[in-house]
Amino acid sequence: MFDLIIRNANLADGRSGIDIAISGGMIAAVERRIEATAGTEIDATGRLVTPPFVDPHFHMDATLSLGLPRMNVSGTLLEGITLWGELRPVATREELVERALRYCDLAVTQGLLFIRSHVDTSDPRLVTVEALLEVKARVKPYIDLQLVAFPQDGYYRARDGVSALTRALDMGVDIVGGIPHFERTMEDGRLSVEALCRIAAERGLPVDMHCDETDDPMSRHIETLAAETVRHGLQGRVAGSHLTSMHSMDNYYVSKLIPLMAEAQINVIPNPLINIMLQGRHDSYPKRRGMTRVRELMDAGLNVSFGHDCVMDPWYSMGSGDMLEVGHMAIHVAQMAGVEDKKKIFDALTVNSARTMGLEGYGLDKGCKADLVILQAADPQEALRLKPNRLAVIKAGQVIARTAPRIGELFLAGRPDAIDGGRDYVPRL
Ligand SMILES: [Zn+2]
Repeated sequence: MFDLIIRNANLADGRSGIDIAISGGMIAAVERRIEATAGTEIDATGRLVTPPFVDPHFHMDATLSLGLPRMNVSGTLLEGITLWGELRPVATREELVERALRYCDLAVTQGLLFIRSHVDTSDPRLVTVEALLEVKARVKPYIDLQLVAFPQDGYYRARDGVSALTRALDMGVDIVGGIPHFERTMEDGRLSVEALCRIAAERGLPVDMHCDETDDPMSRHIETLAAETVRHGLQGRVAGSHLTSMHSMDNYYVSKLIPLMAEAQINVIPNPLINIMLQGRHDSYPKRRGMTRVRELMDAGLNVSFGHDCVMDPWYSMGSGDMLEVGHMAIHVAQMAGVEDKKKIFDALTVNSARTMGLEGYGLDKGCKADLVILQAADPQEALRLKPNRLAVIKAGQVIARTAPRIGELFLAGRPDAIDGGRDYVPRL
């Protein structure tokens, strides 16, 4: 007798007709036909059941602040930074908490239960840090929230940037951030990477830097980040977020750089929605895409996971907390449309990002935590195409969100009454 059995599931690895039994908040069995019964049974009706989505790069202190104190008229990165600089000194803890909790509600309905958020440490009041530490505690029953101390205005460039970041870590922020390309000089950028990696090593913390988020091919802080990772023995515990300058780098240089990154086991976090929106802004035509070299990095064995980065904030007026929207954009920008490519993109929204965040017990194997999502789609490829409804979101064996299937009703003579986009509107082979 189990607590819950989900019957007739398709799994991301291609298995179908699978039953998943859950007991005590853990996955107790994953088999083709489980004869036992359970207190609750859910028929997945041949839909995809997957572990929850994982967002390894987000800004929860800025989310849902679109329009405050005014709109980003140009839609550029720099006006976004200016706007955030106006909002940050007047934002209250209560406002920050309320917006973050509201975003987390949305995330849960999207089956997004693991989020790594950067938290800006540039305002010495550190209200952002206080607010997100409160949010982290409050959402703990349903979302695992990791926090990165992020010196948005520069570790060395901002007044008190060094001491504010240290205080944020002392307050309990989990991860050391950085923004080397935004320091005043290349040299300051290099020194910031060295200092921040040393702090991480001393405190036993992971590192996740906004690194080389620029179209400048000479922005090569990732090289220093990889070298410092090896120097301090931080392999596998360091993430390079964005890395957009790699898009524009000389190919010969990249042929040296990628093996260095592989040696350091750098976790690569492109943010496709934001990168395609904000990079290449100084180009006329041809206009660069500005996302890092996803295929090349994956082929070299690096762990690549995609972040959402922003939702309705000073930098990005769009977004819906849907990691499949992120993956959908990644497929286009990276031009990874092959069958195997799409599997890799789906992994980059789930298992790869779980690895980036160091999650334990993540997955759909026996013994994993019973966190999973039933999608209104048959397989990962269809999920990426449709960004379908999350029929059920389950945390520790409990249903914490449901969304009805999206069914389009039709009133056409001689045609069907309704279509299920995922099931009826597909090629019939
Ligand atoms: Zn970011």
